[in-house]
Amino acid sequence: MTRTEARALGLSARLTRGKSLGLNLLHLEKVAYLPGTVSPKDCPVRTAIGTMEGYVPGEQPQDRRYIKLNTNENPYPPSPHVLEALRNAVAEDLRLYPDPTARELRAKAADVYGVGPDQVLAGNGSDDLLSILFRACVDAGAPADVAYPVPTYSLYDTLAQIQGVEPKTIPFGADFALPTEALLAVGARLNLICNPNSPSGTFITAATIADFARRAKGVVVVDEAYADFARESALSLLATCPNVVVLRTFSKSFSLAGMRIGLAFGSREIIAQLNKVKDSYNLDRLSLVAARAALEDLPWMQANVAKIKATREILVGELREMAFRVFASESNFVFAVHPKLGGDNLYRGLRDKGILVRHFTTPALREGLRITVGTPEQNSALVSTLRSLLT
Ligand code: PMP
Repeated sequence: MTRTEARALGLSARLTRGKSLGLNLLHLEKVAYLPGTVSPKDCPVRTAIGTMEGYVPGEQPQDRRYIKLNTNENPYPPSPHVLEALRNAVAEDLRLYPDPTARELRAKAADVYGVGPDQVLAGNGSDDLLSILFRACVDAGAPADVAYPVPTYSLYDTLAQIQGVEPKTIPFGADFALPTEALLAVGARLNLICNPNSPSGTFITAATIADFARRAKGVVVVDEAYADFARESALSLLATCPNVVVLRTFSKSFSLAGMRIGLAFGSREIIAQLNKVKDSYNLDRLSLVAARAALEDLPWMQANVAKIKATREILVGELREMAFRVFASESNFVFAVHPKLGGDNLYRGLRDKGILVRHFTTPALREGLRITVGTPEQNSALVSTLRSLLT
């Protein structure tokens, strides 16, 4: 069958390199043809890009109003101090480029988190910082350059594919324990630990990460998107582990997912290298203002986090009463598996009733659901809908 014939039948065509023969082989897969997947013949992009599917973020539906518990956003509005600062920043000087070095934001962050300003890099969300790290550390065709435990944040797979490498993924141990020895055996230049992990919500202590980082030869990135909801941060390791980079986001605990702000913390040397890779003006003027104002109002964030943690515990109790197995969460979401109804059925049942949660189709995760902790009212609607689906 030729590629054109395959397309006519709605099959996807992939060009991959045959390992044993060193030849380019055409593989045809029985899946719907994906518009984003093209062969190098059709479109002159790198083979790594033409053959990948691209990251699929959680749905941001426009068709109706859902109770949105699918992308770990915060259910509460941002701090009034941030909104006021933003209103004042909508002004004539938006015609000027923003500060490419985010100097004022880095100074404030350094003060708040107890590091030097040149140990901080600001990003357009922490996804931007992850992309910068992959571009800085991962060579095309060098699979041992990147390693991480799975299942985890699936953007890591996509970023590895963009660099043209198949990452070394190591299954988490029992109860999502860090597979330290297996990761060390890879010896990757870029190691990623999502902590708390998504989608499990589970947590690894700073002491365990320190033990790994001291013995790892590469950079150890601790993706702390959800750390404000957890018991501790790996930021304390920066003083003793020069290979640790900690990533934070303003999308969760600060209720600012729409502004796209992240911070990376690391040694002066690593941050200086990452600076070479970032876009010149990767944060716009408004994001810089919002981030600084958010850091000026930490008590607001802490109160917001306390509310979500309290609601999380109530939600976990209610899910367990319905026989769900719920992993111990230190995040603003929980991962729950029901012994009778699979994740897909529950996801669809909830969606029909106007409640969106996240269902992953990968074998390790497809039995469960990742549910963002909402307001008490949103959680009640979720729980009563789940009860009706289970009876
Ligand atoms: N890391 C993890 C583990 C996440 O779940 C997310 C949110 N999808 C991010 C990083 C990126 O967050 P943002 O780009 O909004 O800062």
